[in-house]
Amino acid sequence: MHIILTIHDYYAAHLTGEVTMVSKRSLMSARIAPELQSWVDNRKVSAHFRVVMPMIAGVMLNAVVIVAALLGKVPLWELGLFSALTLIISAHRIWLAHGIARARWSRRPTRMLRSILISSFWLGHVFGFALLYWTPHVGASEQILLSVSGVSQIAAATYTMRTVPRAAGAVIGPMSMGLAAGLAQLDNAVSWGAVVLLLSASVLLIRMTLTINNAFIGRLLRDRELSATAKTVKLLLNEYEESGSDWLFELDRTGHLLNVTPRFASASGIPAEQLEGKPFISLFAEAGSCAAIEHLLATGRPLRNETLALAAQAGEETIRWWSVSARANFNPGFDGAAIRGVISDVTAQHLAESRVHHMAHFDALTGLPNRALFNATLPQMLDERRKKEKVALLVIDVDHFKAVNDMYGHPTGDAFLRRLSDRMTDTLAQSGLGGERSIVARLGGDEFAIAIADTNACDHAVRLANALILAMEEPLTVDEHILESAISIGIALCPEHAVLPRQLLSNADIALYAAKGGGRGMWEMFEPGMDAELHDRHSLARDLRQAVGNGELRLFLQPLIDLESETRTGFEALLRWEHPERGLVGPDKFIPLAEETGLIVPIGEWVIRSALAEAAKWHDAETIAINLSPIQLGSPGLLPVIIQSLAETGIDPARVEFEITEGVLMHNSEANIEVLNRLHALGLKIALDDFGTGYASLNYLLTFPFDKIKIDRSFVSELSTREESRAIVGAVIGLANKLGMCTLAEGVEDAEQAAKLREHGCQMVQGWLYGKAEPSAHYNMRQLAEPILINPEDKSRAA
Ligand code: C2E
Ligand code: CA
Ligand code: CA
Repeated sequence: MHIILTIHDYYAAHLTGEVTMVSKRSLMSARIAPELQSWVDNRKVSAHFRVVMPMIAGVMLNAVVIVAALLGKVPLWELGLFSALTLIISAHRIWLAHGIARARWSRRPTRMLRSILISSFWLGHVFGFALLYWTPHVGASEQILLSVSGVSQIAAATYTMRTVPRAAGAVIGPMSMGLAAGLAQLDNAVSWGAVVLLLSASVLLIRMTLTINNAFIGRLLRDRELSATAKTVKLLLNEYEESGSDWLFELDRTGHLLNVTPRFASASGIPAEQLEGKPFISLFAEAGSCAAIEHLLATGRPLRNETLALAAQAGEETIRWWSVSARANFNPGFDGAAIRGVISDVTAQHLAESRVHHMAHFDALTGLPNRALFNATLPQMLDERRKKEKVALLVIDVDHFKAVNDMYGHPTGDAFLRRLSDRMTDTLAQSGLGGERSIVARLGGDEFAIAIADTNACDHAVRLANALILAMEEPLTVDEHILESAISIGIALCPEHAVLPRQLLSNADIALYAAKGGGRGMWEMFEPGMDAELHDRHSLARDLRQAVGNGELRLFLQPLIDLESETRTGFEALLRWEHPERGLVGPDKFIPLAEETGLIVPIGEWVIRSALAEAAKWHDAETIAINLSPIQLGSPGLLPVIIQSLAETGIDPARVEFEITEGVLMHNSEANIEVLNRLHALGLKIALDDFGTGYASLNYLLTFPFDKIKIDRSFVSELSTREESRAIVGAVIGLANKLGMCTLAEGVEDAEQAAKLREHGCQMVQGWLYGKAEPSAHYNMRQLAEPILINPEDKSRAA
């Protein structure tokens, strides 16, 4: 793998011009590195030997012609010596060029060069002296012959010994000097002219051999280096094609594929013949890829490890990614491919990277952006806010999510959150607010956030908040459980409430707390005074933790009245908190807080123990009603506490009534109804409290055989003003009577209401008309209760 990467980088670097393949300087200079000297010498000798036969043939021809022409004109022994020496030198040269000598010397080319030099020296001198001695002593025709012979051999040596310039010099030098000296002895103007021409030509020819020799060496070295590079590249190509991690491609000037390799074809999954001539760009998917390749075609600027997505092919599930490097050569004279490049498949790498990116920015449970992404996006939205544009931030919290988790376990809780987030995104889309100018994120736990940028962001936020709350009113079915899914929302606006992201978030949070404090299932827009309220809630929560231990809780009692006889039948226990600084705090202020923090469980247990202990002191006929929070119903400690308290006080369970709300039946009907059945089995009574306020449905009356239905105060107070309320109260009482359930109307404040309720057939009442919630000392429960005397004013009003 490492090797392949290295090869890829090496080749990519070549393609993008970061490495020059061959140094031009090293080629042009004839200076040869010592280790190359013998290699170069060998080539020089070989080049000379390739023309050694024509050279020797020329020498012999000259010797024969000269001897024939001078026979009888110079002493015979001179001609004999000349012929013999020429023969020996020629034979020696042929012996050097062929056979044993060459084989032996080829490993020592320097010595061979010296032998050639010596043989050339003798050749030059034999002819040189011949020309020197014979030219002045022969006739004009022979002189012409000798001159032509000398000049032609000088010229021939320039050609045949161009790669061995010293040897060439050793021939040309003595020959031209000998001829020149011979001509000089004629001592006339013409012969002196010939000398000058001859010598200057010789100098030029010697220089020419040197130049040719340098060029020869230069070419030798260049060829050597090129062939080495070619070998490396070929090696690399083999490596590519075989190892299969990378492959090469070529494009013409218009971006069409050329010379498609088998590796390329198999990597792209398209047969090579179909790829040939296909636009390269058509292999890739998105606009980003096209832009990169178009840029390369237009400007010739190299691509370096550009990661591009491939166009999906039939039957392919995942998108494949290629890393493309390419280099262009658009020079008009260049006849190779206009673009060459290398590709590697980086799908696995890309997937891993995008998975990591996704994990870092998206919530695994819901698939929504997470807090990190939201924290990065919100400042952007605030920064990019155009003139008159606003950003609305909605912070959303699921009401009683802790109860869902506690009651049904975390898997159900998770599924619940998933369904909830789907509903949230659907609602956003239906409101026409999804898209680029908004984001929905899960900030963690059961907390979500939505940001909207728009000139009408404020209106949109309010509309969306209403739509969300409405959407959540429909219970969610998760794992066969029907779960209530109310949410509370806090809204803050930029720039009205804050311009900095952190400030905006904290203001939205404050509004959220206000919404929760206001009774959940609501939204609240931030207002400057809210900070103080929030502070208040925090300190209240802190104090509440100590309230049970510090004995700050009190039970107040409100009488429950039989409407027919107007006599007291018992009391409802209503909790108060005697705060050391705040004074008496009502349950509306701290029960929601206790439910949110889970403190309701120990507090509720205290209520049960105290209420039963209190009632045990009363007359046998008085009943006690105790309020139970839905969260208490899910607590495993509830039944043991009740059983223990019953045993300790010895109170008749028939005197004890537990009041639950409709919410209990919505959360997890089955488990809760099971608990209610157990309570029933103990002989305890169960009342349905606040009937009509929640998901007012007469159906709930059928889900459990309640002993009592408590009609909410809101219906009672509207009895004389709203026809609808009268109808509902009538229907509830009618149905409850049919089902054998007792009905109690809450919040009866005047005799008129009492009279109306009596008309409707309501059996019991509770309210300020008969008595407020008071400390137990206020009422006398030792004796059997007398009929309760109603205020004379109220009596007269009722009449
Ligand atoms: P609730 O169970 O509906 O209790 C009746 C509430 O109506 C009491 O308020 C009572 O004081 C008030 N009320 C009674 N008659 C009248 C009337 O004629 N006019 C008006 N305006 N109000 C009347 P309170 O005591 O403030 O309790 C509020 C709520 O707090 C209770 O509503 C109950 O849901 C909760 N709560 C009280 N004690 C406990 C408790 O021990 N445990 C639990 N879980 N909840 C409790
Ligand atoms: Ca109650
Ligand atoms: Ca009530």
